[in-house]
Amino acid sequence: MDFAFDARTEELRTRLLAFMEEHVYPAEPVAAEQRARLASPWDTPPVFGELKAEARRRGLWNLFLPDERYGAGLTNLQYAPLAEITGRSPHLAPMAVNCAAPHTGNMELLAQFGSEEQRKQWLEPLLAGEIRSAFAMTEPEVASSDASNIETRIERSADGSAYTVTGRKWYISGAMNPDCKVFIVMGKTDPDGPDPRRRQSMLLVPRDTPGVEVRRAMTVYGYADHDHGGHAEVVFDGARVPAANLIGEEGAGFAIAQARLGPGRIHHCMRLIGMAERAIELMCRRAVERTAFGGELASQGVVRGWIADARVSVEQLRLLVLKTAWLMDTVGNRGAHTEIQAIKIATPRAVVRILDDAVQLHGAGGVSQDFPLAELWAAARTLRLADGPDEVHQRSLALRELKPYR
Ligand SMILES: Cc1cc2nc3c(=O)[nH]c(=O)nc-3n(C[C@H](O)[C@H](O)[C@H](O)COP(=O)(O)OP(=O)(O)OC[C@H]3O[C@@H](n4cnc5c(N)ncnc54)[C@H](O)[C@@H]3O)c2cc1C
Repeated sequence: MDFAFDARTEELRTRLLAFMEEHVYPAEPVAAEQRARLASPWDTPPVFGELKAEARRRGLWNLFLPDERYGAGLTNLQYAPLAEITGRSPHLAPMAVNCAAPHTGNMELLAQFGSEEQRKQWLEPLLAGEIRSAFAMTEPEVASSDASNIETRIERSADGSAYTVTGRKWYISGAMNPDCKVFIVMGKTDPDGPDPRRRQSMLLVPRDTPGVEVRRAMTVYGYADHDHGGHAEVVFDGARVPAANLIGEEGAGFAIAQARLGPGRIHHCMRLIGMAERAIELMCRRAVERTAFGGELASQGVVRGWIADARVSVEQLRLLVLKTAWLMDTVGNRGAHTEIQAIKIATPRAVVRILDDAVQLHGAGGVSQDFPLAELWAAARTLRLADGPDEVHQRSLALRELKPYR
């Protein structure tokens, strides 16, 4: 077993680390200052555009896309350590290199299942980083971790030329930003069909379609998540789009959603490990800088315990994430199902714990806006819910584990 990264990965890591040091970390306070002066807090601070231009110039662009026609053509194993690095500044770096959720999943989906026309209209500007997109599945009225509950209706017109969408969604990430020009909406085309997995379809709905209302911004532990474009409640009230906006065929929505979530989950876990690394760095700096009761904080056994446990967790998580990436590359996303679920359960939990210890070590500063820890904690905590709550993954992983004993 060889634990070293290959030459291409090492070379990209070096370039990405330099980009982070020279551009991304210095841009963090700049983005916050610029946002405070924007006409609307949902607009994009100009520094984002500068970061994107610099990333493109350095060849650090669309690294997540394994299909060479559209992206860098990296394997999951090659992309994993790069996504980890961007996770150290999760509000800026993934967007700067055009590898931010939910756009990555939407681009993958369009590359894989979109028609030529759909790819031209939506995938091309997304790949160029000119527009943003959102994925609209979750609904406030039903338990949406079970996709068969989705109630939004997608109805075909009598002459077959159009679809209308009616329903209410919430926590639609990115939708508050006006550059988010298109929603991929999951709804039911055949609500009474015999197979519950064939009732849903996916439809491209442009933001400016009459009947689409981005109603309000949902918060995350009080944070608006402006840099990500927030998380919106969106109402579709008879929004009518051409039939050509259907992705794939009627009834394929469930299968497409499953395909979209596999890579998305591993990307989240990779970035979470980067967040944990940043927390460890901040912990170590603080522990040697501050003194209390006659000694530096780092001299306290409890502090050393937090730091050591954090390092142990990160090393374990990284190995499991890399193994999962390798399996996805070698046996496919289906073959890596158990490992994808295992990392989706293990990573947010452990990183929340690490961030909580880092907050504790920073005292009041830990919960303040002067350190990134509180906001990182909130972001990591939401990943125990988003892309499938822990318990849903536990349930299905355990069912597979139990199968041979039945
Ligand atoms: C910050 C953030 C961003 C998000 N972004 C998006 C987005 O862009 N697009 C989108 O469509 N959605 C998004 N979501 C929504 C997210 O995907 C859902 O919250 C998630 O799928 C759970 O659905 P729900 O909230 O309806 O919870 P429910 O389905 O009501 O579940 C509630 C709880 O019930 C328990 N539970 C459910 N099923 C089981 C089970 N089988 N066994 C045991 N316990 C169970 C779990 O503890 C679960 O947390 C986002 C959420 C957050 C917090």
